[in-house]
Parts: sequence; structure tokens; C-alpha cells
Amino acid sequence: MSDYAVGFARPDRRWGPPEEQAASWHAVEAHRPADELDGEVELAVCGAIVQVWGSQLWERVGAGRAGCPECRQQTGAARDTPAVRS
Ligand SMILES: [Zn+2]
Repeated sequence: MSDYAVGFARPDRRWGPPEEQAASWHAVEAHRPADELDGEVELAVCGAIVQVWGSQLWERVGAGRAGCPECRQQTGAARDTPAVRS
């Protein structure tokens, strides 16, 4: 099982459709402990460029409304999320 750090997409780095911009939290595959990655700019699993926020837990924020749906899907955090409409 992989561990995931939480990355935050800063407003000045966001792109994409508005509904995507509401999802500010992304999962970053943690090849190092999350607190070591804190503050680093990394590539999220969905491909977004994010800054790691070491104090957040992906299992917690990824399940919330602000979590990136694509990151959720790819990390399996989306257990009871409604199907994504096309
Ligand atoms: Zn994402």
C-alpha cells in the first residue's frame, strides 16, 4: 500500500474548469515521509502541480469536498462518492 501526502493547489497555480478549481487538495505519492516533503512542490497523482502540506492527512481531506476527485479515484479514497458525471 502506498502512502500519500497531501498537496495544496495554490490559487495562482490552478487551472482547468471551475468545478475542478474548487478541489484544492491533491494526493501526492509519498516516496518520503510526509513531514519531510512538507513545503515541497510535487506532482499530484492526477498530474496537478501542488505544494505538499505535511500536516494534513490525505485520508481525511481526500474524503472531503475539497479533495480532488481524480486523486480520490486513483488512491481509492473514494469509497462512497457519487459517480462522476461526464
Ligand atoms: Zn488531484
